[in-house]
Amino acid sequence: MLWFVVTVALIAIITIFCLVRTQRSDKEIAPYVSHCLFWLLIPIISNIVIALSDDPEVCKFCFTVYFISTTVLLYYFAEFAIKFCNFAEKSFASNLMMGIVAIDAVNLALNYVFNHVFSVSVVEEGGEVDVVFQSLWYHKIHLGISALLLAISIIVLTVKCIKTSKLYRDRYIVILIVCILASFWESFHVFTNGVVDQSIIGICACGLFIYIYAMEYVPSILMDEMKKTVLATVNDGILFFDENRDCIYANPAATFQLGMDLHETASGFEKLLALTGEDRAESANYSSKVLTCTKMEDGEEYIYDIEFHKLHDMQGKLIGSFAKITDTTERTKRENVNRFLATHDKLTGIYNTDRLYDSVRQVLQENPNKEFYVVTTDIKEFKLVNDRYGRDYADKLLIRIAKLFGEKAVSPTTRYGRLGSDKFGCLIEKEHYEENVFVQAMNEVPNIERNLTIPIIMHAGVYEIEDKNIPVSAMFDRAFIAIAGIKNEAECRVAYYEDTARDQMLWGQKITEQLDNAIVTGQIVPYLQAQVDRDGKVVGAEVLVRWIHPDEGFMPPGKFLSVLEKNGMIGKIDQYIWECACRILRRWSFEGRDDLYLSVNISPKDFYMMDVPEIIIGLAKKYELDRKRLRLEITETIMMDDIDEKLKTIDKLREAGFIVEMDDFGSGYSSLNMLKDMPVDVLKLDMIFLKDTAQDDRTKKIMSLIIDLAKSLDVPVIAEGVETVEQVDFLAKMGCDYFQGYYFARPVSLDEYEKKNLSSAS
Ligand code: C2E
Ligand code: MG
Ligand code: MG
Repeated sequence: MLWFVVTVALIAIITIFCLVRTQRSDKEIAPYVSHCLFWLLIPIISNIVIALSDDPEVCKFCFTVYFISTTVLLYYFAEFAIKFCNFAEKSFASNLMMGIVAIDAVNLALNYVFNHVFSVSVVEEGGEVDVVFQSLWYHKIHLGISALLLAISIIVLTVKCIKTSKLYRDRYIVILIVCILASFWESFHVFTNGVVDQSIIGICACGLFIYIYAMEYVPSILMDEMKKTVLATVNDGILFFDENRDCIYANPAATFQLGMDLHETASGFEKLLALTGEDRAESANYSSKVLTCTKMEDGEEYIYDIEFHKLHDMQGKLIGSFAKITDTTERTKRENVNRFLATHDKLTGIYNTDRLYDSVRQVLQENPNKEFYVVTTDIKEFKLVNDRYGRDYADKLLIRIAKLFGEKAVSPTTRYGRLGSDKFGCLIEKEHYEENVFVQAMNEVPNIERNLTIPIIMHAGVYEIEDKNIPVSAMFDRAFIAIAGIKNEAECRVAYYEDTARDQMLWGQKITEQLDNAIVTGQIVPYLQAQVDRDGKVVGAEVLVRWIHPDEGFMPPGKFLSVLEKNGMIGKIDQYIWECACRILRRWSFEGRDDLYLSVNISPKDFYMMDVPEIIIGLAKKYELDRKRLRLEITETIMMDDIDEKLKTIDKLREAGFIVEMDDFGSGYSSLNMLKDMPVDVLKLDMIFLKDTAQDDRTKKIMSLIIDLAKSLDVPVIAEGVETVEQVDFLAKMGCDYFQGYYFARPVSLDEYEKKNLSSAS
């Protein structure tokens, strides 16, 4: 008896433990298992009390509880089986079962009234008191109901065992077998009328199996199968290695990626490591690492990331490792393309500005003791090249420049890139720099397939890096400033940056920006310098511009005109002065001074930027001028290019009635021959001749020749820059008709000029 009580008590403790664990679980089946375990506890406790008590009334009550609770237990077991086997939930069958359980409970409760189910009596034998259980006819109804509920569970489990995959079958079959065994065990005890019902042990066993298989058990074959399927179908290669680094598993993806099957290969870990070029000794030091492996196959490059992970047990001892291989070919290529596009110029394929600046910065940091130059290049009037030869040709030109940079970049520290449009830049070590190489390369640039009618001229600017801490962009700016100084030169040249060049450029920018305002506010004023005839009589004046600047003070044209010419603003100031001249002439005409003329200067650049005849004719009309009184000074430099076009323009002006003067004759490229072809009305001899006359007889002869030639062509001559009476005499002797110079008058303001000349004449 004692063994029975101890065994059942133990089972009760285990059952409570399982019940607590089940209630903490959030599995869907957990409430069903809980019900079974709870209702299992009640028969257990009833049986313990029956075993220990010899009071027939207590035993009767416990038997009643025991029978009712087993029926409820069987009901919940059936509910569990239906849920566990995934049969229909809450159904008519479930309600029916509940009804049957209720009938059984009522039947058993009525035993207290009718004594028709069982009886409990006390028997005394040899001084020992025993409680004897007597089954009566209605007890069979209870047994029948129990058998019916059990049968439902057995049928449900059996059907499930037949239907389900063999991977899952064992979880159902175990419960089914235990259930059948328990029912045999139960039946056996029903017919052996023992004092205690040992069948409870079978029921308890059944309850524990339910707990294990429903709550704890995960079929290992199922897990293995699933792992195998997943590993075989994933795109990543997976390899497992044991503690000796032998490969114990390689999935098909790994075999495909590596081009070899490492499965069950001794030292497979080393073989895999060798593909990444990683040191074996090094690999001992890390517990996980990603290495890259590049493989060529059929001329195609494949890139793999291999992740190595070491595995340790709870005590930290190595149990093996695994590797995961990911094909990163596409991703890496995409990243490379994106990186290339972000850092390179699309047209030429060389570095773009940002990348060039970055890499220059890096080279300068890495080579603090080396000396470097920054060199930039620029194509002269690239816009014209683009307009005349088209974009395709211009693009080819740029690609060729980039290629030449590549060919000439000899040193590993050289960096070069395109800085936008036709501008390129490079960093070069001082000791590798040779000016000739650049000049030669710049001369090679136009050698592409085509006959050029306008020459392609490149200029290079060089900045010697003295302070490596200034921004890289400023270094390149300085090299460009150096170019600005030689911008107009008609041959490929290299210029070097000096601080003054930079200051000049900034000054030029400032002046250019202020021009419009200066015109509007009257800072730009015409000065007049008288021209006289042989008798010293004032016949007219040359209009010379002056800028009375609020900060810079009084500025002669030599200070600002070249800047405005470079920046394309000369036309603006010229038009303004022409209009001033027209206005003065108009006023003089009203004042009866129709005998005086004014001559204005026309810059060679004006002809590129505007239709000079149209503007001047327009002004003459606007101010109703006698056109002979507005003289136009052009210099021989306008004949440098497009000669036919220029000759036509001059003709147009002369035909319109203006007198055209050739200014500064003899200062530049002029030839006597040119004089014959030039359709001009007056020749102005450059003052350079007068500077030399004192010493040089040769110069005098040339002047005399020019004056003779002009005479023979019926072109009057004005000598400029006359400063002394000797010069006047000498020029007069040679046959010079008019004079302009400090000897007679300096350029003066309009007021002063009028005071001096108009009042005395009138
Ligand atoms: P230019 O047309 O040859 O003008 C004559 C220059 O010689 C003037 O210089 C004048 O002041 C200077 N000069 C006159 N007599 C003497 C002399 O006896 N000795 C010396 N040493 N110099 C004398 P300026 O006014 O400084 O003008 C310089 C140049 O600037 C002009 O040379 C002309 O080419 C240009 N320029 C002046 N005004 C204008 C203008 O409104 N438009 C354009 N495009 N150019 C202008
Ligand atoms: Mg002049
Ligand atoms: Mg002149």
